[in-house]
Amino acid sequence: MPSLRDRLSRHRLGLVLALTVCLAACASEFGMPISSPIEPDDGGDATPSWSLAIHGGAGVFERDMDPKRRARVVSALESALEAGRTRLAAGDSAVDVVEAVVRQLEDAPEFNAGKGAVFNAEGGHELDAAIMDGRTLDAGAVAGVTTLRNPISLARAVMEKSKHVFLIGRGAEAFAAELGFETVAQDYFFVDARHRQWLEAQEREAEERDARAPADGKDLSTVGAVARDREGHLAAATSTGGLTNKRFGRVGDVPVIGAGTFADDRSAAISCTGWGEKFIRRAVAHDVSARVAYGGRTLETAVREVIDEELDSGDGGLIAVGADGSIVLAFNTSGMYRGAADANGRFEVGIWDTMEPSNR
Ligand code: ASP
Repeated sequence: MPSLRDRLSRHRLGLVLALTVCLAACASEFGMPISSPIEPDDGGDATPSWSLAIHGGAGVFERDMDPKRRARVVSALESALEAGRTRLAAGDSAVDVVEAVVRQLEDAPEFNAGKGAVFNAEGGHELDAAIMDGRTLDAGAVAGVTTLRNPISLARAVMEKSKHVFLIGRGAEAFAAELGFETVAQDYFFVDARHRQWLEAQEREAEERDARAPADGKDLSTVGAVARDREGHLAAATSTGGLTNKRFGRVGDVPVIGAGTFADDRSAAISCTGWGEKFIRRAVAHDVSARVAYGGRTLETAVREVIDEELDSGDGGLIAVGADGSIVLAFNTSGMYRGAADANGRFEVGIWDTMEPSNR
């Protein structure tokens, strides 16, 4: 038989529920939003709105960063954001836009993806990428590819032109060859700053001998994009060279669906950056989605909980777009290269804790 205390607490729960239902009914009666993290886009227009968030990686970014590097990073973020904004405003699909934006970021030497991919322990480059369509839950991923100029497009081909979700190494390259994808020699990925970073990481690792921590947590710089299109569909895409001085054959979170990349129209699209092993263990991207889908959280609360409670300070960050078009950008490192744009005219990029509105 339930104790008096149990009965009282059930009674109190009943009262709270009744009050909540009553308040919700009154609020909607008077046209008030019951719980909306952001204002609706498009000024109430019937046309569904769009939103876009991008990242160029999280890491330890010094405030006294070389101003020229800072300008290059900001300009690369702004032009990718601009390209994505133009396409979403024109009605392109979220999947098309996240692929195009990530391709553009892969071609920019500033970021650790495509052209600017970091060096692995053998002095080579192995790239990972994934894309997911929140409308159908279709997904495509590739890992350990070494000759693809734009791994994100191969990930999309895996999603749309194969029966599979995930292809690795030689098999992924063979699939790319069948489809006539553009390939490059490994020296295409040689970027002087990355090479120096690798040499420093090797020295540090030889001194520290900590095989578990990333050899270089300074400038992770993976790239990603999440979008909600005018039809209300969501998509996420992420691409990376992985961690500097990673073991040959190591695969991070980025191509692991649900770890570094995830999208579901019913909840959110998420793209992560950071210490991949941590993101895989916590299935971070899916965790955010699940907290929204069946945990009753707003996107912002879900992201905060995962970043603050499931990960450790310094592990990384993520970008997310919700089914309602809300955008959340969060990280627990000193900075994250990032940008956000939406149909309400928002257009801003940021590196450290505050965003910098752009005059574009
Ligand atoms: N998450 C990526 C990885 O571990 C690295 C990054 O975000 O820069 O492969």
